[in-house]
Amino acid sequence: MQRANVDIRSLRIGFGGLKVLDNLNLHVEASEFLVLLGPSGCGKSTLLNAIAGLIDVKSGEIHIGGRDVTWAEPKDRGIAMVFQSYALYPRMTVRKNMSFGLQVAGTPQDEIGRRLGEAAQMLRLTELLDRRPFELSGGQRQRVAIGRALVRHAGVYLFDEPLSNLDAQLRAELRVEIKRLHARLGATMIYVTHDQIEALTLADRIAVMQGGVIQQLDTPKMIYRAPVNRFVASFVGSPA
Ligand code: ADP
Ligand code: MG
Repeated sequence: MQRANVDIRSLRIGFGGLKVLDNLNLHVEASEFLVLLGPSGCGKSTLLNAIAGLIDVKSGEIHIGGRDVTWAEPKDRGIAMVFQSYALYPRMTVRKNMSFGLQVAGTPQDEIGRRLGEAAQMLRLTELLDRRPFELSGGQRQRVAIGRALVRHAGVYLFDEPLSNLDAQLRAELRVEIKRLHARLGATMIYVTHDQIEALTLADRIAVMQGGVIQQLDTPKMIYRAPVNRFVASFVGSPA
């Protein structure tokens, strides 16, 4: 599995007359855990979806692992994405939910088995492989959704508010698990949230967004201690 950097250059995206991202630049280092933090509607999902190739850009470039993927298909970008709603196939077992994408892509069966075993072990899903989504708790379902991304062996993992449907206790547990996964895989992770605690505990660096603009890009410590403006200070809850 290669660890890819992500380079976003002068990105512009709009929907009809609405400008969502205007000339946005962002460089994410290989193996970095970068959090996009900001209030609802500030353009976090739009940016993540653009990196994933799920929406078209107006202008600008997206490079992943040194390759210009601005117009590449999602499957050709070397990314895997975890969404907020688990989006599991309700009739398939956990095993099938996790392996389906690899089967479609023509991955050999023994390789699928190997990756599945590894991901299930990392996410403590081994005992649950024969269950169906309705037999799982919310936290377990979200672990399956993460597992389904992990088996892709992508260079870059994209997370869009993966924990926001869970209660506080589970969120805290899964934060630890995601952090551990990052340490173990060393993959690049771009993680969208509006939750300050999540951002401060997970990130190597945080990009604080407001109105489609990155207001500050820095380590959690610096964001918290030295916010560049009032918006960042109030949003991350820095001491006055
Ligand atoms: P966030 O993820 O930070 O909550 P989004 O990226 O989803 O924000 O949305 C940013 C802005 O773009 C919002 O004003 C939203 O209403 C608008 N938007 C997002 N997707 C679409 C779309 N497909 N069509 C029209 N407007 C959209
Ligand atoms: Mg969003």
